[in-house]
Amino acid sequence: MSTKKLNENNFLIEKIKVLRSKTIRKKSKFEDERLDKPVSFWIKEDRLLKEKGKEFTIILRTKGCSWALGETGGCSMCGYIQDSTIVEIDPNHIINQFDYALQKKIKEISIDKDDFILKIFNSGSFFDDDEISADVREHIYKKIAEIPKIKEIVVESRVDYITREKLKKMKGILENKYIEVAIGLETVNDYIRNIYVNKGLKFEDFLKAVQICKENNIGVRVYLLFKPPFLNEQTAIDDCASSIQKLAELKVNTISINPLNIQKNSLVEYLWYQNRYRPPWFYSLFKCIIKACKDNSILDSVRIISSPSGAGSKRGIHNCLKRDCNEFMINSLKEFVISQNINCLVKKDDSYSCGCLIKYQLQKNFI
Ligand code: SF4
Ligand SMILES: [Zn+2]
Repeated sequence: MSTKKLNENNFLIEKIKVLRSKTIRKKSKFEDERLDKPVSFWIKEDRLLKEKGKEFTIILRTKGCSWALGETGGCSMCGYIQDSTIVEIDPNHIINQFDYALQKKIKEISIDKDDFILKIFNSGSFFDDDEISADVREHIYKKIAEIPKIKEIVVESRVDYITREKLKKMKGILENKYIEVAIGLETVNDYIRNIYVNKGLKFEDFLKAVQICKENNIGVRVYLLFKPPFLNEQTAIDDCASSIQKLAELKVNTISINPLNIQKNSLVEYLWYQNRYRPPWFYSLFKCIIKACKDNSILDSVRIISSPSGAGSKRGIHNCLKRDCNEFMINSLKEFVISQNINCLVKKDDSYSCGCLIKYQLQKNFI
């Protein structure tokens, strides 16, 4: 990597840190009552490994991602620190958050005819002891083990905290469930990931984590960031499609494509205000998935999902801002995710008739 590029990255890191400290300074303390409830939780339709089912998602409030709170300021698109306490949080609060969500939804889960996937997110790393202690994790595992309708579980973590010991412990208590550990790889390209996204993760370290998961019979879910900053639409399509193909070769279990959405006080928000970044177009996302999957059987071996935050809004993935145009794309994407049938996107790619397609074709190599 050239010195010039490293300097550019230092500049980015400095900028991210300034934005991050502004957020932290402005944050007010959460009251105890709020600390006993999760950031949010919901149930909705989702794709399970082999069939359609439901997801039960719980977003826990923790101290915050160590990468974002550390020396580098965190990833350039991330504003999750907004939901975190920043200061130490008593582990009992986290237990209460989990129990609260479970108690509110357990009846709905038990009478539903579908099976469930439970997603526990904490806008950081589930296996980072500074965010969630070993005792809290164990409490959560034991509760889940008692619910037969929950067939699959997903937790997310930076690779630094994924150890054989922690995976063994989890698998030991949840031996009858399918577990996936989600890793924010963002792209297989080290340069884009570390210089543009400031992820601080080498592909080789990702591979080691995949290996540890496989050894413990635990699945791997990979997050790909669709259209990182400093890429235009066409480059974003190429980057993400080649990432999908590479990950399919590695036999990861699930690829979750996250189209970038503009999060508060992130570096990307700063670029967006200056008209130096536009969230991706739906047309690009469809082209990317089609490009990666059309001529081969990738979808037979890997589940590809995408549930974009802020879809159809100015800050999220969108075409023009016409409601119909975006809703059509959102519905097509949902159909694809549930069915894993690429035709849900193929027919929409060429035949969709909104006038913004021409504008997109003219712009896609420039922004
Ligand atoms: S994207 Fe993930 S790893 Fe990066 S700063 Fe945000 S929470 Fe931390
Ligand atoms: Zn349109």
